Amino acid sequence: MNFKTLSLAMALGLCSLSAQTFAHTHSDKNNSFVGSVKLKNYQEQMKMIQGLDIDIAGVDRKNNIVDLLLTKEEVSKLEAMGLHVEIDFSKLDRKGLDDDYKSPSEIEDILKNTEKNFSHIAKVHVIGRSSEGREIYALKISDNPELNEESEPAILFNSMHHAREVMSPEVSLDIIEQLTKNYNSDEKIKHYVNNNQIWIVPMLNVDGNQKVWDGSRMWRKNTNYGHGVDINRNYPYKWGTCRGSSASTWSDTYRGPTAGSEPETQALMNLVKNIRPVFDISYHSYSEIVIYPMGCNGERAQTKDIIEPIGKEIGDLIGYEAGTAWELLYSVDGSDIDWMYNEYQVIPYVIEVNSRAQGFQPSYAKWRDKTVERNRPAWLRLLSRLDGPGVRGTITSTENIQDTTIEVTKINGEKVQDYRVNPTGGFHIVLNKGEYKLTVKNKNEVLSVKTISIENERMNITL
Ligand SMILES: [Zn+2]
Repeated sequence: MNFKTLSLAMALGLCSLSAQTFAHTHSDKNNSFVGSVKLKNYQEQMKMIQGLDIDIAGVDRKNNIVDLLLTKEEVSKLEAMGLHVEIDFSKLDRKGLDDDYKSPSEIEDILKNTEKNFSHIAKVHVIGRSSEGREIYALKISDNPELNEESEPAILFNSMHHAREVMSPEVSLDIIEQLTKNYNSDEKIKHYVNNNQIWIVPMLNVDGNQKVWDGSRMWRKNTNYGHGVDINRNYPYKWGTCRGSSASTWSDTYRGPTAGSEPETQALMNLVKNIRPVFDISYHSYSEIVIYPMGCNGERAQTKDIIEPIGKEIGDLIGYEAGTAWELLYSVDGSDIDWMYNEYQVIPYVIEVNSRAQGFQPSYAKWRDKTVERNRPAWLRLLSRLDGPGVRGTITSTENIQDTTIEVTKINGEKVQDYRVNPTGGFHIVLNKGEYKLTVKNKNEVLSVKTISIENERMNITL
């Protein structure tokens, strides 16, 4: 519905859209304000803001300041709630996007050239197609990149669920560049590449990004159905359950018509199902934080004793604060990391690169290299952690892999995890140092029991 027909419809009483809703039907944000609010009671007031379905751009968690993309009406609503909104006119930048950031077709070229130049360690995969028909690409980096080498752990790095977060693909491209160009000269890199299967998806939301290049610089969602869907609220786990997304099509956190409805969401879900990564990092911007599951208020992961310390460690390495989404930002439902963790036992992190001062689209020349360099120790640490405390192997004690689990308990009987074995019979359980009892079970029948002592290095066994 364009402006004229909408006005006519409203005049004729055919349409009950309020002025508020009308403002949002044009939510490509060109008419928005960038406003900042300092919160006195962070979690309480963040909930209020989220309740208004306001587009939250990013935060400065140290100073409890939140950046919002606001319509005039929303500014008034916040002021009425007693919040003082500081409008930042410098952020209303109407210039075009810095040309050095990458478009979908540039990403495609870079990946294909990488495959051409490093064919012995790099292979391009098409993992899906967007609603506008664009191909979504992944690059696999490993020795024998054509083969699925069962003995080698998989790890996933992905960028750009959200279209305006143009720095996020740069981090993925830097991972690719570091792993390929330094392969021959750096023994550590060679070790990581030869002994793991490293998957990188530099740009998941290809349609949304094209829309950003076409002039909607603050576009966040994909472009499906015209209004688009926030693909990082569309994953099936706890979809739409804890006020961590919106049911309104105009909202920037619209979760979609059904769980997992979006082609981009499905592309990443299929990839994860096929490769079963041990770790994942999903890159976003901005706020300089590391987020680990779970996303709904008050919830923590069953294996929090393993995933939270690793999250804090990678946060410390790059100077970012680490926590759950509800601790650091707000409740989130339907996110990729909660789904990966719950469905396939992946240990996943979101890293929000760049600070509030830098925002979504900082000067490429000034901030690109600084940002990717700062982020290197985090992904390198996850690559090295694949060799760290834990146990990897295959089940040989039964042919009936379906319904086979490994119950992991500490020696004192405390439950650590019920690990569901992969369909191939493989497993990779990340642990802390210590003594554990592994009980292989098919439904309730105990197939084998083994006690292991985990030291600094990963143990490879058969069960
Ligand atoms: Zn994001």
